[in-house]
Amino acid sequence: MPIPTKTVLIFGGSFDPVHSGHVEMVKHVAQRFSVDEVRLIPAGQPWQKAGLKASPAQRSDMLRLAFEGELSIPVQIDQQEVERAEQQIPSYTVDTLEQLRQYYGETTALILLIGADQFRNLTTWKNWQQLFQLAHIVAAARPGYSLQLDELPSEFVSLWGHAQNELDIARFKQCCFGKTWLETGLAWDISATRIRASLQQQGQSKESIALIPRKVLDYLQSHSIYN
Ligand code: ATP
Repeated sequence: MPIPTKTVLIFGGSFDPVHSGHVEMVKHVAQRFSVDEVRLIPAGQPWQKAGLKASPAQRSDMLRLAFEGELSIPVQIDQQEVERAEQQIPSYTVDTLEQLRQYYGETTALILLIGADQFRNLTTWKNWQQLFQLAHIVAAARPGYSLQLDELPSEFVSLWGHAQNELDIARFKQCCFGKTWLETGLAWDISATRIRASLQQQGQSKESIALIPRKVLDYLQSHSIYN
């Protein structure tokens, strides 16, 4: 396997809305893995979630505002899943990673960042085994979703070239895909669903103000998305 010449962090989601947990996860992992570029991928038509409130354009605008000035490396907002949805094609992560692997070539390390809730569900994703042939996977701790090895689905624990301490990060960075890192140094008790409910019930409460980046809050207010 070629030694990577570049490392790209890939982070997809509904982002309905993007919240401070998303921003902090990306910053934390980008720093830990000395990432060169970040690709944020708003979902077009998530196959496991129905009824997004904000439009793709609004979710992309909020992503841009949330990450503006937060990282000193390039941050791209990738519209490929939104574009596929416009042609009624559902968003599967494996298709997205295949596109990105083609785009970046064989010598770029791709790191897919997902929350512990999604990670624990991974074996329900389309062609999930293939994900490990396309990218590294970093699972970020999330309150309520254990990342204990003995509590994870046994099907995929055996698949890993598992890196789990600082020394192993060096080995992780020698390959372009195929390793898994359980990022337990984070625990943000934030969810977009809870934020939407809180905005709907209380408007801009103390809670939502604490959990959403300021510029995103201003955007939400001027576009009246969740009230
Ligand atoms: P919802 O509450 O509707 O499930 P969400 O807060 O999970 O939304 P998404 O846009 O669906 O937001 O999440 C994008 C990605 O970020 C997913 O991989 C999700 O697991 C992860 N994520 C979101 N919030 C957290 C969090 N607090 N801690 C760890 N991972 C998170």
